[in-house]
Amino acid sequence: MHSRRDFLQKFTATAIALPLAQLHGAAANKSPFDEAYNGPVLKVAIMGLGGYGTRVADAMAACKKAKLTGVISGTPAKVKAWQAKYGIPEKNCYNYENFDEIKNNPDIDAVYVITPNALHHSQVIRVAKAGKHAICEKPMAVNAKEGQEMVDACKQAGVKLLVGYRMHFEPKTLEIIRQRNAGAFGKVLFFQGLSGFIIGDPTQWRLNRQLSGGGAMMDIGIYSVNGSRYMIGEDPIWVTAQETKTDPVKFKEGIDETIQFQLGFPSGAVASCLSTYSLDNLDRFFLNGTEGFAELYPATGYGPIQGRTSKGELTQPHVTHQTVQMDEMAGIILEGNKPLVPVDGEEAVKDLKIVDAIFKATKTGKKEPLAL
Ligand code: NAD
Repeated sequence: MHSRRDFLQKFTATAIALPLAQLHGAAANKSPFDEAYNGPVLKVAIMGLGGYGTRVADAMAACKKAKLTGVISGTPAKVKAWQAKYGIPEKNCYNYENFDEIKNNPDIDAVYVITPNALHHSQVIRVAKAGKHAICEKPMAVNAKEGQEMVDACKQAGVKLLVGYRMHFEPKTLEIIRQRNAGAFGKVLFFQGLSGFIIGDPTQWRLNRQLSGGGAMMDIGIYSVNGSRYMIGEDPIWVTAQETKTDPVKFKEGIDETIQFQLGFPSGAVASCLSTYSLDNLDRFFLNGTEGFAELYPATGYGPIQGRTSKGELTQPHVTHQTVQMDEMAGIILEGNKPLVPVDGEEAVKDLKIVDAIFKATKTGKKEPLAL
């Protein structure tokens, strides 16, 4: 039996994970851990204490700028276990009925929503109304309309909305983006994104449209959607897509098993991508320009990410993605830092507009225009 976790962990086991801060320190020939950090710290409550929430909580133990201070969960036993494991006081524990009360809790600056996809919309809006910053897992919502409502609610409340795009802080990915910006690949003309794994348990929420909003596309295909944008460095203007299904019992109406999609970009570059729940360890990005190429394989798992360009291997060390992400997000929220690739709600709405158009194109068979 396979799971998304098995897949993402596949390449992690033997890795020595370094936080990004340590890399910066290594470059400067000294570790920042030699110095005490005295800057501002983002106090974070995690909502949804499942598989990925646990991974984020564990990774946050190594953060300098972000600290896990609270939990929101519907399962009292999990809350108790997290209190014991992460030292969370009773006054910072909430459930789905009473979490609006975080409004009055100065120990919580932000809530990281890590629940099934279809719940993100209402939960993020409640977080915003409580006056707290929201960090939301991908996909931010189940369609662009809901995503936009979340962006609007956070704007109205004067809080930030960030989305868990951990690859936007991954060192090899960023190196390719820097090289592309410097013209190392010439005129970029082609991107291929392959994203898939074999999904296990047929009763899980990922295969229940009410909770997932879709199948492989919402869960794993979105990495190729988002990746095509940050690898090419443009937003697409059209999409075509074709859906195939080999197991209509497991993958019911509204749960896509496999979708191939193609994106066209203003410069003339094109992307060709595959999203599937029926092939394992499918995780490869390939970018080609007139003067060179870049490959990430694996491209989006928990790492180590491996990559090379036409000039040779990429040698940036492995980092724990969630540690770096949370430190960087604390810098964005508390210090107004600007990441090289955005991680805000507007960025996620663009991905959802593309996903909406992909679903539409599988039905119409036509080239669907995009206005991002
Ligand atoms: P999970 O099933 O392991 O955990 C989901 C949690 O939500 C559970 O603790 C569950 O109890 C809780 N929950 C609250 N209300 C629920 C309801 N009505 N029905 C079912 N569960 C409910 O799932 P996960 O893998 O942790 O995924 C959670 C979110 O994180 C998803 O949006 C997923 O796409 C995202 N995710 C992101 C990454 C990443 O690398 N960025 C990796 C995995 C998951």
